[in-house]
Amino acid sequence: MRRGVLVTGASRGIGRAVAEAFAEAGDRVAVHCKRSVREAGEVAASLPGDGHLTVRADMADADAVRRAVDEAAERLGRLDVLVNNAGVFLAHPPLTTSYEQWQATWSETLATNLTGAANATFCAVPHLVAAGGGAVVNVSSRGAFRGEPDCPAYGASKAALNAFGQSMAVALAPRNIRVGTVAPGFVETDMARSVLDGPDGDAVRRQSPFGRVARAAEVAAAVLWLASREAAFASGTIIDVNGASYLRS
Ligand code: NAD
Repeated sequence: MRRGVLVTGASRGIGRAVAEAFAEAGDRVAVHCKRSVREAGEVAASLPGDGHLTVRADMADADAVRRAVDEAAERLGRLDVLVNNAGVFLAHPPLTTSYEQWQATWSETLATNLTGAANATFCAVPHLVAAGGGAVVNVSSRGAFRGEPDCPAYGASKAALNAFGQSMAVALAPRNIRVGTVAPGFVETDMARSVLDGPDGDAVRRQSPFGRVARAAEVAAAVLWLASREAAFASGTIIDVNGASYLRS
């Protein structure tokens, strides 16, 4: 059975790799984007198999999120998996940021990384139930556990996303819906490029005993597994994909 899969923020980076992983597994993918319609269309067209499509929404716009989730389910014919991947990583060092910038950054970060994912999940649930069950996978971050001194809203949003996923794992299990979370360390994407290409790049790579950061495909592999039926009893878990750069107990 080909699953219907919605991946948010899939026009590039980890989301694109996740879309590719599901398509390679034979699934049909709705490639979500905020504004990058052309790039999302190119991703959808490049995926193996047929029936892939694009949907558009600002994750901070609750009505747009509902429209995008419903459109994805309708055009895919079914929705079996939601991957909450879209996110922002905005710098706002506490000692040097103005109060106005601080507020704007917290608002955008929480609206996108946390409330956007919560709203997409809420809107996806009726479709997942109609499909007889399914999976939600959230893309969190190592920063939820290790702290993000220059991006505290980001760390807080991901810690909250972890807690949201655990609550939903319990709430949705009676409808045969699994909820899992992947917490990557630094990943080779546009989001991390300025850090990885900057003066701290080598130090960041040395945080892992492998001497490198993650590839997007390595994060996608964990997402794919969490969405599988074989992972059903792992519902509620958080998988670290950080190259042993941060070990939590
Ligand atoms: P990226 O910047 O390449 O991709 C993020 C995607 O989210 C983009 O497609 C962007 O358009 C989309 N997005 C952002 N704000 C949006 C909004 N308001 N509405 C709709 N879409 C929006 O970064 P990435 O590295 O691929 O990040 C994907 C996820 O992985 C994010 O949740 C990020 O926090 C997480 N993550 C990334 C890293 C890393 O080092 N790159 C590490 C840990 C976790």
